[in-house]
Amino acid sequence: MSGENQEIQNYDVIIVGAGPGGLAAALYASRSNLKTALIERGAPGGKLITIDEIENYPGFELIDGPSLSQHIYDSSMRFGADHITGEVQELTKGSDGNYQLETSTAIYQAPAVIIATGSYNRLLDVPGESRLSGRGVSYCAVCDGFFFNGRDIVVVGGGDSAVEEAIYLTQFAKSVTVIHRRDKLRAQEIIQERAFRNSKIRFVWDSVVEEIQGEDQVEAVQIRHLPTDEVTTLETDGVFIYVGLVPNSDLVKDFAVTDDEGWIITDRSMRTKVAGLFAVGDVRQTHLRQISTSVGDGSLAGHSAYQYLEELGDD
Ligand code: NAP
Repeated sequence: MSGENQEIQNYDVIIVGAGPGGLAAALYASRSNLKTALIERGAPGGKLITIDEIENYPGFELIDGPSLSQHIYDSSMRFGADHITGEVQELTKGSDGNYQLETSTAIYQAPAVIIATGSYNRLLDVPGESRLSGRGVSYCAVCDGFFFNGRDIVVVGGGDSAVEEAIYLTQFAKSVTVIHRRDKLRAQEIIQERAFRNSKIRFVWDSVVEEIQGEDQVEAVQIRHLPTDEVTTLETDGVFIYVGLVPNSDLVKDFAVTDDEGWIITDRSMRTKVAGLFAVGDVRQTHLRQISTSVGDGSLAGHSAYQYLEELGDD
């Protein structure tokens, strides 16, 4: 899109991404009377809407992702933030200090921007994975678990996501085999214990999936046992892959605010090293990625953006 004849829409602060972090930032910014825009390409809630049950978000003993997402959305938008549906394709900073954000249909401008673009599931990067994606290979148990009623499936990974989703999948599957590259899980103890108690789950330790096989649908995985180098084939109807996250930080690649893996580095106030540019939630370099930590990040960033604009006004 050429921006030459485009009317620019001005805001005090623009938040990119409407997951829990972005929504909390919108709440704090708009409640501080900042003219606030929240730009999101999909449904509000981000990854939250793909979570079946949440038991570690204060205020709710147990709640499903879509419901919690709706609660956070409704409570965050009631102070007048504009919800804009669109994908920000370019973020630039002008010599006047203002940021410009371009979507395919509009240009937005603000002196403060909060990046809340989250992360996406890392690919396993083995033969057969992309060809059989949607044909037995999945990255979302809540979306696809139902299709594996009475089937044998494999989950790859050993973190919270892999183990939690393996437990979730046992309500559909006949068996769930978790294949992990080490002999110890990374997942939280409480989640591990539940998995160990579940008679439908078995573990294949110290092993990696080297290939996903099948003509039109997943039929088997080829597994290498790392200590012995022994290669075996395990028949399966589905492969759910949970081998970590990749930050959605392409938008800020020219600002040099990320670490080597692309996570955005901020201080405790969610400020990046570039004035007026903030980041929150999963896209940020942090050691704990939770709904509650994203909400905390967003609250701080909304407040920090307010302080930043106050200081600008004083100059
Ligand atoms: P993660 O914690 O980074 O775990 C990724 C897992 O995949 C690790 O076990 C890792 O093995 C394994 N792995 C990585 N690359 C691999 C490869 N190429 N081949 C085979 N295995 C590979 O990712 P996550 O489980 O998606 O969790 C992401 C964040 O969300 C974490 O902060 C997590 O705590 C949070 N989360 C929290 C909850 C909850 O609180 N209920 C639920 C889900 C996620 P190693 O262990 O050997 O590194």
